[in-house]
Amino acid sequence: MDRVEIFPQSTLTESQGGTLDFGTVVHTDRADGRPKVLLVCEHASCRIPAFLGDMGLTAEARESHIAWDPGALGVAQQMAGLISAPLVHGGVSRLVYDCNRPPEAPGAMPLKSEQYDIPANALMTPEERQSRVENIYAPFTRAVSGQIAQHRPSLQLMVTVHSFTPVFHGRQRSVELGILHGRDDRFAVAMMGVVPAQPSFVTRLNEPYSAADGVAHTLDAQAYPNGLLNVMIEVRNDLIRTPDEQQAMAEYLVPWIDHTLSGFGEGGAA
Ligand SMILES: [Zn+2]
Repeated sequence: MDRVEIFPQSTLTESQGGTLDFGTVVHTDRADGRPKVLLVCEHASCRIPAFLGDMGLTAEARESHIAWDPGALGVAQQMAGLISAPLVHGGVSRLVYDCNRPPEAPGAMPLKSEQYDIPANALMTPEERQSRVENIYAPFTRAVSGQIAQHRPSLQLMVTVHSFTPVFHGRQRSVELGILHGRDDRFAVAMMGVVPAQPSFVTRLNEPYSAADGVAHTLDAQAYPNGLLNVMIEVRNDLIRTPDEQQAMAEYLVPWIDHTLSGFGEGGAA
């Protein structure tokens, strides 16, 4: 009997056939001057490198929130412009490698995301997993640490920008903005103490996720050891569907962050 090929050939030969083209896996929008804030957007892109084919997923799944954070990059780029901050953003779908997870985390190359199985991730060899770590996670973390090193004298704060789906496992989420922290809760708690009154958003600490869900990796691995204040901002993605909405959200977040940062004083990060 012939062997039945269940999965696309490309997923079976990921580490074969010489050099694989992952494309641009990380982008750095640089900033002049002496920035106080470094912005990071790990889930900015839903791009899947061509050699991985469709990863066994429908087009709908490949473009849905399981593959990336819709709207988050637009918000982060608007914020970067408003506060003259450098921005590091991912160039590959988190289904290929989730740059907010360490290589040993099950979610780094997920087998399942919400209701979707990720067929291409089920058959990976150790070499293929290592290849994704070396070609996606490693350059991403180098880009972040490079920006920290370059701007260390003026840098006080790292902000990671994310979006979340309004409906998760069929349940509507009422929270609109989540302010999350990892090991260092100082900035998140300070932000919650000065939430702007207008416009009014349902804003909660450590919702809809928390560090217990493994979402604070970049904060804890990059900001914390360098003595930077840090916070993760989660925006419900139905609030940031258009460029105008993304700009409005950035214009809401930046003065709030600035005001919170001023409470720590100059160089107050250490
Ligand atoms: Zn995210």
